Amino acid sequence: MHVISGKPGWIEVICGPMFSGKSEELIRRIRRAEIARQRVQIFKNALDARYDATSIVSHSQQSLPSVAVDQIGQVYDLIEEGTEVVAIDEGQFFTSEIVSVCNQLASRRLRVIVAGLDLDYCGEPFGSMPELMATAEYVSKQLAICMVCGDPANFTQRLTDNRDRIVVGAIGTYEARCRRHFTPPQNGATPPSDRSASATPTVDEIS
Ligand code: ADP
Repeated sequence: MHVISGKPGWIEVICGPMFSGKSEELIRRIRRAEIARQRVQIFKNALDARYDATSIVSHSQQSLPSVAVDQIGQVYDLIEEGTEVVAIDEGQFFTSEIVSVCNQLASRRLRVIVAGLDLDYCGEPFGSMPELMATAEYVSKQLAICMVCGDPANFTQRLTDNRDRIVVGAIGTYEARCRRHFTPPQNGATPPSDRSASATPTVDEIS
């Protein structure tokens, strides 16, 4: 039996394609923690200003105020005394530093919850999400509903010709698709060497 004594820290990852309810699930977990009077701090990448410059917002318009950061390392300076839960949305937008930051916070006995895309618009693992998932204690994979057939959707279909890896957009730019109906771009994917989320994203980013 796994016995945890004292107050442990850990990492939870909520992953899946766009529209799978990652942000909704993140907001649900944050609200429950807040009801239990736990001190929560919420961060998002400054890149994602689709609906709001600072709040995290789901496609179903649920939202919570957050702090937007350019670099995940800024979180160290922003964590306040007494914080018990750290929530990070759009984890795929951050550099690989997110892995060490989350692990260090968990080692400091914080509960760290990260939501993010596990695959990009080409169907390839996104940024440091795979590494983060490997070091996390808990991984929840969410699925959306395929907009073509209604089957469970694991992929995010980009509906435009833009080949930048990061193109921030929502309905109209992206659609949830199942394996059968997902069509990756032909010869248009960004070369793997350019794919690291450590490269400064150009414009819009998927999410
Ligand atoms: P994510 O963070 O994974 O992009 P959100 O939590 O922001 O997802 O939004 C989930 C919501 O998106 C759903 O509750 C639903 O209202 C909406 N939605 C739009 N398209 C779909 C779809 N194809 N499948 C499921 N939900 C969808």
